[in-house]
Amino acid sequence: MGRKNADSDIDVPDQIADELSALDDGSLREAISYAQTLLEERTEPTTQIEEGPGEEIISIKEQDGYTLVTKKQPCAEGCDNCPHGPYLYRVRVEQSPVDGKPKLHWSFLGRVEAGD
Ligand SMILES: [Zn+2]
Repeated sequence: MGRKNADSDIDVPDQIADELSALDDGSLREAISYAQTLLEERTEPTTQIEEGPGEEIISIKEQDGYTLVTKKQPCAEGCDNCPHGPYLYRVRVEQSPVDGKPKLHWSFLGRVEAGD
């Protein structure tokens, strides 16, 4: 019973290890791909990126370690041409030094041509 990878550092709960080793090759690949998707969803900041008041998100592109967001946004005056842009931002998840929670850090990269 238990794990087959006794000589490795991989620490999988016994129940999951047993269930995984009972799978055929195809199902095992499905399980790997499922686990990778789960992991990516946890590390990707996309789910936290939301339009602010008066903003219009044009596109969200996942990159390795960061996310590129193109959006239009209003100016301080709220003029007739609002929202302006689109503007390109690089968004990274950083740990807040205050409470240790992950927060989004937006870096302004510049204006982009409309229509992407
Ligand atoms: Zn404006």
